[in-house]
Amino acid sequence: MKAVVVYEKGRFEVRDVPLPRISDGDVLIRINYAALCYRDLLQLAGYYPRMRYPVILGHEAVGVVVESRDPRFRPGDRVVPLLHEPDGTCEFCLRGLDAYCPNAGSYGENLDGFFAEYARVSANALVKVPNNVPDELAVLTPCVLAMVYKGLKRAGFTRGETVVVTGASGGVGIHAVQLAKALGARVIAVTRSEEKAGFIRKFADEVIVGSRFSDSVKSLTDGVGADVVIETVGTPTLNESLKSLRTGGRAIIIGNVNPDESYQLRLGYIIMKDLLIIGNVRSNKSDVAETLKLLGSGVVKPIIAATYPLDKFSEALEFMRNSSRIGKVLLKTQ
Ligand SMILES: [Zn+2]
Ligand SMILES: [Zn+2]
Repeated sequence: MKAVVVYEKGRFEVRDVPLPRISDGDVLIRINYAALCYRDLLQLAGYYPRMRYPVILGHEAVGVVVESRDPRFRPGDRVVPLLHEPDGTCEFCLRGLDAYCPNAGSYGENLDGFFAEYARVSANALVKVPNNVPDELAVLTPCVLAMVYKGLKRAGFTRGETVVVTGASGGVGIHAVQLAKALGARVIAVTRSEEKAGFIRKFADEVIVGSRFSDSVKSLTDGVGADVVIETVGTPTLNESLKSLRTGGRAIIIGNVNPDESYQLRLGYIIMKDLLIIGNVRSNKSDVAETLKLLGSGVVKPIIAATYPLDKFSEALEFMRNSSRIGKVLLKTQ
């Protein structure tokens, strides 16, 4: 089968590799779509501590079971894998907190991932996709929509609250806007691009264009500030995000990590405004299942900037890095 293989730090090629072999508790899936993510760039650059070479890149996929050695799945089941492979037996897994499993492997890092025609996945890492969720939306669930869902849940979000989404045209941002809206938020989207604001306006209640947005958020909230910020950009917008929050506000930090950059956190904002800062390593299986259930009602439209075949992976990567796009980049793997 064809696969994107990272054979040393920073170097990859699309090459032919043997079909993965499965053991007890595993499932072989035929991958329909995979999606590109900034995490791929970080893994490719070797920033993750447990990188193993060679490794097949990719951690966002949707596929169909072709062979199962676990009673929970049968050939024909449509599934999405988590970003990680929990052991299913530790105290965290047993409490439904499999995202914190200390023994979990990680796809595209120390386990072969999904930029391939087929993949071996432990049944512990799989969630069935309901029939009413299309592949293009399912592929975005574990690393995008369920992350946002989990963040809002941890933030104690309730309907009617105001949610600011930074980087609103990005792969995470444009879907975060829609999911927050579907959960009953008043959504204020922030983008740097005037040109993309029109598109974002279809989904958000208000759009602010520019990098200094906290004053605009304040004036849109009668001087009070937003209840929640979903930060998808990272250090360039974080200060403004924290300034946008009301006293007792919550910041959900989803992206983007630049490992070469240090950031000076203004403790004053956090202490004096009683802020809650929420990280987001990965979603739990229950978050993915709950999000898929919600998506079945058609409340979120997948926004796909481009779809490339597997052997055009280099071009897909270049497009993700350099283009002015809205939404996610997919790989059609079959
Ligand atoms: Zn991802
Ligand atoms: Zn575990």
